[in-house]
Amino acid sequence: MNINKELNLLNQKLIYDFTKFTTTDYVGQISCIIWFIKCNFRCLYCYNNSLVYTKKGNYSFSEILEFLKSRVGLLDAVVLSGGEASLYDLEIFCKKIKELGFKIKLDTNGTNLNLVKNLTKKGLVDFIAIDFKAPKYKFFQITATNFYEKVIVTIKYLIKIGFDFELRTTINTRLLDEKDINDMIKTISCLDYKGIYYLQNFIETSSNIGNIKKSRAIDKSLIDSKNLTIQYRN
Ligand code: SF4
Repeated sequence: MNINKELNLLNQKLIYDFTKFTTTDYVGQISCIIWFIKCNFRCLYCYNNSLVYTKKGNYSFSEILEFLKSRVGLLDAVVLSGGEASLYDLEIFCKKIKELGFKIKLDTNGTNLNLVKNLTKKGLVDFIAIDFKAPKYKFFQITATNFYEKVIVTIKYLIKIGFDFELRTTINTRLLDEKDINDMIKTISCLDYKGIYYLQNFIETSSNIGNIKKSRAIDKSLIDSKNLTIQYRN
């Protein structure tokens, strides 16, 4: 990338906000979280609507890097989240974060295999969390996209290269019931996913894209955990 292109990228306001400190998002790491604008999904339960729908961010990569310089020795890692961080060319940003000595975790919906390949091949990401949104037959209903296969190829790639990553699914039983979750378990088991599969509860907030309300709790006794380690979050 030539210097002008790089400067241009570093100065674009692609970031909505950042959380200066968290111990919960990247397990074992004291982190900050960078919240990117926009998303290529419209998940019904998404409560990050302000990030998803906004056209312009409030911070550039350069501004975040300035903040990170002040956190060297205080933070271990940077979490790239959103919105959807993988919509952007993250290579230069990740390189500069790495130069400061931080680990990087990428939270993604898994649709940008090329970016994931590039970052993993170049050692510019340490951990990836992929939101596995729904079984194939419900993917469009929940995400308003037909990108199921894109997510699957990214999961397959990470399994193939033995990369450290997790799969997680947000559960609202109005949208996904035990049968659907078992179908997803079957899918990722067949892909030979050996990591922990995290099932996290939908959190009701004042607004979300589909105006989804809280649902009954999942019946854990009906979840098939024979071939996979399942962990429940929140
Ligand atoms: S929940 Fe869905 S719509 Fe919201 S940011 Fe994540 S992938 Fe995008």
